[in-house]
Amino acid sequence: MPGPFLGPPSIHLAPLCGKDEAGFVPGADAETALALLRTLALDAQGAGVSLDTLTVTEADRLLLRLYLDVYGDSADCRVSCRSCGESSEFALSLTAIAREQDEAAPPLRPHETHWRLSGGARVRPPTLADLVNTGGDGLLSLVVEGDADRSQVEDWLEKAAPVMAFDVAAPCPHCRADNETRFGLAAFLAARLAAERPFLVRETHLIASRYGWSHAEIMALSRVDRRAYATLIEGERSAGLRSARRSA
Ligand SMILES: [Zn+2]
Repeated sequence: MPGPFLGPPSIHLAPLCGKDEAGFVPGADAETALALLRTLALDAQGAGVSLDTLTVTEADRLLLRLYLDVYGDSADCRVSCRSCGESSEFALSLTAIAREQDEAAPPLRPHETHWRLSGGARVRPPTLADLVNTGGDGLLSLVVEGDADRSQVEDWLEKAAPVMAFDVAAPCPHCRADNETRFGLAAFLAARLAAERPFLVRETHLIASRYGWSHAEIMALSRVDRRAYATLIEGERSAGLRSARRSA
């Protein structure tokens, strides 16, 4: 059951299948990840559901739920030092960050659909449709009453409508230089799925070789099932090799 910070509980996510993963090739970006989220989102009856009316935060949390389902809590990042060029790694706990963001966000008062800024202006939470329609450049359209300038709205939304996209301090363990890197969950998920493409191809090959299933049938398997079949086939192959060596 999704936690309160993992997007609307009324939206379910279909299991990730090979046909979804196949869309992630090198160069896949945040948009590809968002398109995947739209594909997997279902209502309680299992029908497709539009994400456009979700707030940007709700949609981002749904993306977090997808990441947690597939990979768990940790995002292992690698950065190259801008000073010495050495690379280093660090891990982020995504649920801890989401919780911190939610605790820092000013809540909407009960029955209110807008925030009231200190200057009196009322601002509504941005939806996914706002992002698509305005390319992220229509912040002032979120001001529904009173006056606020762009930077006021921007500052407010940074806290009030958090997403899993932020700068991370990544000091270099080799030369101690201060490095800062940008983390964005959508792009990170896309890159991670794209990097696994060779595994998808190998697992597909193993299953096709063993069972003779068509490519479409294998692509329709959930990622979990496909991997389980591939592991069994690998196990059989290793056992076969061992017994062949013993009898040689
Ligand atoms: Zn360094």
